[in-house]
Amino acid sequence: MSPTRRNFLKTAAAIAGTSFVGGTAVRTVARTLSSKGTGSAMKLSYRPYTLELKHVFTIATSSRTTTPVVLTEIEYEGVTGYGEASMPPYLGESHESVQAFLSKVDLGKYKNPFELESILSDVDAIAPGNPAAKASVDIALHDLVGKLMHQPWYNIWGFDKNRTPNTSFTIGIDTPDVVRQKTKEASEFKILKVKLGRDTDKEMIEAIRSVSDRPICIDANQGWTKKEMALEMIHWLNERNVIFAEQPMPKTQVDDLAWLTERSPMPVIGDEGVQRLSDVYKAHGVYSGINIKLMKCTGMREAHKMIILARALKMKVMIGCMTETSCAISAASHLSPMVDWADLDGALLIKNDVYSGTTVIDGKVTLSDRPGIGAIKL
Ligand code: MG
Repeated sequence: MSPTRRNFLKTAAAIAGTSFVGGTAVRTVARTLSSKGTGSAMKLSYRPYTLELKHVFTIATSSRTTTPVVLTEIEYEGVTGYGEASMPPYLGESHESVQAFLSKVDLGKYKNPFELESILSDVDAIAPGNPAAKASVDIALHDLVGKLMHQPWYNIWGFDKNRTPNTSFTIGIDTPDVVRQKTKEASEFKILKVKLGRDTDKEMIEAIRSVSDRPICIDANQGWTKKEMALEMIHWLNERNVIFAEQPMPKTQVDDLAWLTERSPMPVIGDEGVQRLSDVYKAHGVYSGINIKLMKCTGMREAHKMIILARALKMKVMIGCMTETSCAISAASHLSPMVDWADLDGALLIKNDVYSGTTVIDGKVTLSDRPGIGAIKL
């Protein structure tokens, strides 16, 4: 074996970790890299875009009909990786803030895209916050690396693509008639996610139960502020085939949440209260599990680490999303074989997707065989 080829095999093994060993896949990687070399620089480009929602989307704290996103691309030796930042307004990022952040990212100084760990930790260090902007670089870089390796990320990570969960479909807060209508329209989905946290909570659940007995998960988006009331609601929900409760109380009420989790008959999942890897350990004992979203945690690399840490702490894991195109949804879906529940319906809620990738077939997250994150432009 030539020294060049040995180096490339080493690179491939280092990127892939223990899950990507031997066989055809590594040989393909070696051939691809040796024919392409590592001489040129990566180029990042981006453009703002606005997603239009099919329905007005109402949660405990806000309503909206559009979501701003920024679509990124990283090009290297004729191969392009796709990424995306999605910025629901209540999280504080915007078209302007994401573009300002991305203008400070200089990928030209790296030898090749395989230095994921150091590139992404440098990007993270540019400024605090900006998780969606950071995720848009992370996703494009992962897509690029997967394409250069000719492998989808579930293969690189060593996950079984057939072990993806069913995704829930989200029903926002609305009148009973609209809720019944939306429930009927969502007949393909095996789990419904219901937004609660206002004084119409029981009405919402009863409207759904009048037309469907499918399992429900609920998300109160911090809407319940009294722990006794929250526990009473959870018991009421438990009798109506609700399987877990997401962020029932404000994230700042840590002691109340721990009290509730200890007594709850169903898992209590932290979403707003768990952003990044460093929050997972703090969430242990406060919540039964965590909801990981690429736009909160800066992307696929950190999400993967969060899953591993949460599992080590024997916590439940859910993977969620914002309203996003099929680009970011596809990226998140590669982690879904490792989670208990998926809420990856973001691209199904919009009218103007610009990618096709991971789909939902008969309610199940269905990964494509394409390399990288598997998203292609429409
Ligand atoms: Mg949530």
